[in-house]
Amino acid sequence: MKKQEALVRLHAIDRDVKHLSQITALLQWDQETYMPPAAVEGRSEQLALLEGIVHEKSTSPEIGDLLEQLGSTTAHPMGDADLPEVERDFLRVLRKEYDRAVLLPADLVTEAARAEGLSQAAWVEARKRNDYKTFMPHLEKMVGYAKKKAECWGFTERPYDGLLDIHEPGMTEASIEAVFNPLRSRLSSLVQRIGEKKAPRSDFLSREFPAELQAQFGESVMKALAYDLQQGRLDISAHPFTTTLGPRDVRITTRYFPTNMLSGLFSIIHETGHALYEMGFAEEIRDSSLGDGASMGIHESQSRLWENVVGRSYAFWKGQFPQLRQLFPTQLADVSVDEFYAAVNQVRPSLIRVDADEVTYSLHVILRFELERRLFAGTVSVADLPEAWNAMMKEILGVTPDSDANGVLQDVHWSMGAFGYFPSYALGNLYGLQFWDALKKGIPEVESFIERKDYMPILQWLRNHVHVHGCRYEPGDLILKVTGKPLSADSFISYLEHKYGQLYKL
Ligand code: ZN
Repeated sequence: MKKQEALVRLHAIDRDVKHLSQITALLQWDQETYMPPAAVEGRSEQLALLEGIVHEKSTSPEIGDLLEQLGSTTAHPMGDADLPEVERDFLRVLRKEYDRAVLLPADLVTEAARAEGLSQAAWVEARKRNDYKTFMPHLEKMVGYAKKKAECWGFTERPYDGLLDIHEPGMTEASIEAVFNPLRSRLSSLVQRIGEKKAPRSDFLSREFPAELQAQFGESVMKALAYDLQQGRLDISAHPFTTTLGPRDVRITTRYFPTNMLSGLFSIIHETGHALYEMGFAEEIRDSSLGDGASMGIHESQSRLWENVVGRSYAFWKGQFPQLRQLFPTQLADVSVDEFYAAVNQVRPSLIRVDADEVTYSLHVILRFELERRLFAGTVSVADLPEAWNAMMKEILGVTPDSDANGVLQDVHWSMGAFGYFPSYALGNLYGLQFWDALKKGIPEVESFIERKDYMPILQWLRNHVHVHGCRYEPGDLILKVTGKPLSADSFISYLEHKYGQLYKL
């Protein structure tokens, strides 16, 4: 087979796998939004069937043969040098996915999947009853499977590296440590200095804000951010998420709490950030494996940039507050834009990661990174985890969990065997601010655009510099290409020190 023919065939298989995954995602989206409760059993059978087909297709020996014909091997994933650059990037991504899938023995995959279902169910119960002991044997199994998988995939230095690479291609424990260490010490000091100051008033945030009006405001913000309703929609689900169901179909969800008006709104902005990224992949790569986020962390950089850097800025609220007050004239009658801005950015060390503010959030993630690396190095055991968790919580955030349910049991990730996932959340903050610093050089007057509710210049810049590439570059290469510098915590820390220095008069 000629190279050109091999490439055409490989793209055809890749597209089929992508379309099948999108069909799976559509069933999952329906399950989270509109599906009647009694349909759950039938739906899980449909999903298992589709997932089986996807797995079979994406591990077919034909892919291996075609990759080889194009010169792509594990050692030289990009294939023959005479192929166009974009095709070589395509081969690199496909080779990595293919190797990762076929290197795992089939019985390990089925065994781990079954154990994962039981483990997740055990975690739900254990958290409900605040009973770590009943979850412990499951977690031990999950760590065991993750270690086995890392061994099958191979790693450069430590098994944990093999797991990190799934979510942040090219990143290792050592490279993450290099940015997390300075982040941790400077954030801890910032949190401490803020803690000595008076908290801003925030009583008005828990007043009654009817959900329909919250939705009206949220949707107007979403449209202003250029989320395209011709290519997506907003629905309600228990946990907000973004899902891509086709080349022109990127949907988001949120939920509203009447006495917590910030939650629904910031979920909309966050998910819109994810969706704008997915909507911005270049046409030529959109319907292939290259039409995907560069990594979990880069994806999170987009959602967090819109949510925090734009959505929690003073300029944003100068622009949006008048409309918010028109919708809620009694609830916000005695609130100024300055007070609202301060309340939206209140810093308070707390126990739960998902409720954490912009300053303390990354510390929650660093805690999980520290514990994971110790788990995989064997210096902390699953049995010692709750104690280690509580001690570190005290050390880096100054708070002690009142229960394991609000401590080591709070997140679902470990019960699913998703180790190496957490760092991406904090890396997203670092990538995001490094992009933002580069963006400000290109658009020095960005704040005045935000104040005028004109967010297009920001979106255009992100599209041109980040979104178009999809996953053509690994995160480390992308950040270097876009900002001219390797990843560091400097931009993020300077941003926080400046913003919160002003807010809390430090
Ligand atoms: Zn997110």
